[in-house]
Amino acid sequence: MTTKEATPIRVAVVGSGLAGLATAYFLTRNTRGVDVTLYERHAALGMDAESVTVEHEGEHQRIDVPMRAFSAAYYPNLVALYKHLRIGFDPQSFSFSFAHKTDDAHGGPVPDFLYRGRRNKGPRCIRRGSMARPLFWVSTVWSYLVMVILAWLYTVCGYTPHRRTFGEWCDSIWMAQSFVDELLYPMFSSIMTADMAAVRAMPTREVLEYVAHTFLYRHYRVRGGVSQVVHALTDHLPADRVRVGATITDVFPVDTHRIGLRYKASDGSQAEAVYDHLIFGSQATQTAIMLQWYHDHTQPSSRAIFCAQLLAQLRALHYKKSTVVCHTDTGILPPDEADWRDLNFVTPACKGAHDAYTMATHVIHRSPAQVVMQTTNPLPQLFPAADKTIRQSTFDRFVLTLEGRQAREHFFQRRGKRRTLGPLQGSPDGGGGGVWFTGSWSYGVPLLEGCVTSARLVAERILQQHDLDASHIASILD
Ligand SMILES: Cc1cc2nc3c(=O)[nH]c(=O)nc-3n(C[C@H](O)[C@H](O)[C@H](O)COP(=O)(O)OP(=O)(O)OC[C@H]3O[C@@H](n4cnc5c(N)ncnc54)[C@H](O)[C@@H]3O)c2cc1C
Repeated sequence: MTTKEATPIRVAVVGSGLAGLATAYFLTRNTRGVDVTLYERHAALGMDAESVTVEHEGEHQRIDVPMRAFSAAYYPNLVALYKHLRIGFDPQSFSFSFAHKTDDAHGGPVPDFLYRGRRNKGPRCIRRGSMARPLFWVSTVWSYLVMVILAWLYTVCGYTPHRRTFGEWCDSIWMAQSFVDELLYPMFSSIMTADMAAVRAMPTREVLEYVAHTFLYRHYRVRGGVSQVVHALTDHLPADRVRVGATITDVFPVDTHRIGLRYKASDGSQAEAVYDHLIFGSQATQTAIMLQWYHDHTQPSSRAIFCAQLLAQLRALHYKKSTVVCHTDTGILPPDEADWRDLNFVTPACKGAHDAYTMATHVIHRSPAQVVMQTTNPLPQLFPAADKTIRQSTFDRFVLTLEGRQAREHFFQRRGKRRTLGPLQGSPDGGGGGVWFTGSWSYGVPLLEGCVTSARLVAERILQQHDLDASHIASILD
């Protein structure tokens, strides 16, 4: 344990998604020289704020909202952190189905493709309608193999098309259009909770790296829910250092080394506090709102220019809203119960609709008395009934584009396999005190791995700046 500085460094972490929580943990674990305060606008810590507890077959079951699945190959830092925290996780073998829903069709969607998963009985795949055509299947298997092999080769060789969108890449590779339109884009629309246009606009490199490290790999989920992760990351923090229901309204300059923040508590009262470092684990769009005041009240100087650059780059990171409904409305599942799968995907039948989303319904608990589901981005005609809704939540999710990737390089950079912080992290002169950024948007496609990767980079840099020991972070993650 290192205590080189007599007065602890005062750090505020804004936002308690996994990025904020992991940063606070890395800074305070093993280091007495850092005094961290966590701010979260929700009434509960962010990573678990929307989760629900349901009673099923006489037992209380925790359901993570959103789902938070991961694979070992794409999430090495997340897996290492969970192992260090002694968080148990279970392998998942999802069965799934795809349906295409027309506006005028009544009732639940009838799937044209069903996959039974590894654990279940019955035929592995069932195909109906246009998907049953032999030519469709030959071209689908071919297209799938082409994509996975190319993704793997590109990733192993370290060469992936850098400046192309995924849509352009799909158009240029010999993959069948029916596979791309009916299976590939809908699948990515569900994984990224983004519309088809956003899926097409994603950078090829990041999508193919994701394919190479997740397709064909096993997925996992935390046993008993991520509330345990939240608890394990914060239970060492003093209670007065965890401020929930506290919305940061703005940030202001104090002197060359310190920054102030104003926050509104849930009872409506307002307060201010001054820190040496401010770490934003909030969504970039929210961060830009908080920083606007700082920008407007900074005298023309290198700091003002730095802040203007920060705002410009943060505003180039785009977000889209996702709706998640936990419910018991089986009316939105296929009419025939034999067609229900763990994951039931439905896409609007109108081909080429760029604003179309894939709706995904995850059957979480199933018994003769009750089926508990989580539906992400429900189609209007398949919205779960209000009287069967347990909780409806809305999330802002980062959507990766070529422009967004360029903007994030000001905050996070990659040199081959090595990741480093970009020039807009910390202070303009690189000295003590500063404004930092973490989040799932930092790396690859926006998932939990980016939270841990960015938390590590920021925490290590701050500890090193103050000549404090940061070796515990490497020993947790490497
Ligand atoms: C529907 C859906 C499904 C997903 N499924 C998966 C999955 O299966 N696997 C996976 O790896 N990833 C998944 N993701 C992505 C992943 O959950 C997110 O990318 C990740 O949780 C984001 O973490 P974060 O810490 O960067 O930000 P967030 O979790 O967004 O945290 C930001 C926090 O900042 C707080 N905040 C914002 N403004 C203020 C303010 N002014 N004052 C105080 N607090 C503030 C917010 O309330 C929030 O709690 C999914 C996302 C969605 C939306």
